[in-house]
Amino acid sequence: MGATTLMFLGGAGTVTGSKYLVEVDTDAGLRRILVDAGMFQGVKRLRLLNWSDFPVPPSSITDVLVTHAHMDHTGYLPRLVKNGFSGSIWGTDATLALAEIVLRDSAFLQERDADFANAHGFSRHAVAQPLYRIGDVERTLPLMRSVEFDRPLDLGDGVEATWTRAGHILGSASIRVATPDGAILFSGDLGRASHPVLRPREVPEGADVLLIESTYGDREHMDPEGPAHEAFASAINEAVSSGGSVLVPAFAVDRTEVVLLALDEMVAEGRIPSLPVYVDSPMALASLSIYRARGQAGELNPQARGLTMPHLEVHEVRGVEESKALNSLGRSAIIISASGMATGGRVLHHLERMLPDPRHCVVLTGYQAVGTRGRALADGATSLRMHGMEVAVRARIVRDEEFSVHGDGSDLTQWAAALEPRPSRVFCVHGEESALAALAGRLSKELGVESVAAEPGQRVDVGAISASRG
Ligand SMILES: [Zn+2]
Repeated sequence: MGATTLMFLGGAGTVTGSKYLVEVDTDAGLRRILVDAGMFQGVKRLRLLNWSDFPVPPSSITDVLVTHAHMDHTGYLPRLVKNGFSGSIWGTDATLALAEIVLRDSAFLQERDADFANAHGFSRHAVAQPLYRIGDVERTLPLMRSVEFDRPLDLGDGVEATWTRAGHILGSASIRVATPDGAILFSGDLGRASHPVLRPREVPEGADVLLIESTYGDREHMDPEGPAHEAFASAINEAVSSGGSVLVPAFAVDRTEVVLLALDEMVAEGRIPSLPVYVDSPMALASLSIYRARGQAGELNPQARGLTMPHLEVHEVRGVEESKALNSLGRSAIIISASGMATGGRVLHHLERMLPDPRHCVVLTGYQAVGTRGRALADGATSLRMHGMEVAVRARIVRDEEFSVHGDGSDLTQWAAALEPRPSRVFCVHGEESALAALAGRLSKELGVESVAAEPGQRVDVGAISASRG
């Protein structure tokens, strides 16, 4: 029997850049399979890692298995293709549909940022380069092959992969990879036990080795004592009464859908006035139409009523001119725009305009990675650097953590405890240091299984762990 090893190439010791390399020793040589190909985001030290040489030649990888469409799980795919990968990229239908819009947007933003830096002399290099271009995305898309939930995919050499619903964003999954030496379960990003828009996560078959996400491993989401999203509702009411508007930086995929649904319910319940809602992100609109199509195919939570939002006056903002016209609306409105951590996208020009004015309010709807403008706002920054300028922060900043699409410490522990068979070793990934340590400690204690925070670059002998089970 050959050996199977697992290597942590990203998402270890940090939240972003998820990349896990599985190497299976076969008669025909080493078989290399990558699980997720995420981009590093946030502080510069991490972003620079996207430019490092890949630890193995990308051309030697036969398959990439993708858990879900978010940038920090798919954003590196075009770079991998640019550097020689030509195998298959496997994911659920919805994941591949969403990944296409995520990757096109990513290439667009990178090309634009490189052009902007070149035009204004920002780059430290003679000529700023994008990590990849739209042409690299065009060469990535034809490699994508869709899989069904719960139906094992035979990858050859005795390797089989199975996707199980993870309830995080549309199409999201945990992936179990069975090899001749033992099995590895990748949790992917896990939603809470229920999700307002999606069908709930399910419990996959257990494995010898478990990798579990830890984003909120050290936290417990507070279930609201009163009505849902009360801080959000009162922020809207306050802004309206002072003649201001509300800006919601939202992750284009999933968060926009969840925010719209929550607003629709608030209007229906008479908690906020019916005011116009502008969705100002081509990517969010593309995602919304994919969600709606999946709703018609019965893929969504029936409570979401196919995301029709009958009580809401939703305006879909497509062009750049329409987006700029929002600067002079002359009435209170809600603007939903990407990106969710204000790292780029149209939300920046809204922030530049709205942050200095105390009548306005900015509502942060999700996890804000260290080093992002969203995190700075959440931490109470009094000014923000944008496009080479300092912008004063006088608008009200509200965090609505009820929008989280990640399970908390208890959610994650419950999910892991339900696995059959129970893992022999747990590696906590996709978290900042304190979250990783907290979840590892909790799982060790509550599951009675050796659980540690994965180290970047660490190599794990899966066969040895499997054999130790006896
Ligand atoms: Zn995610």
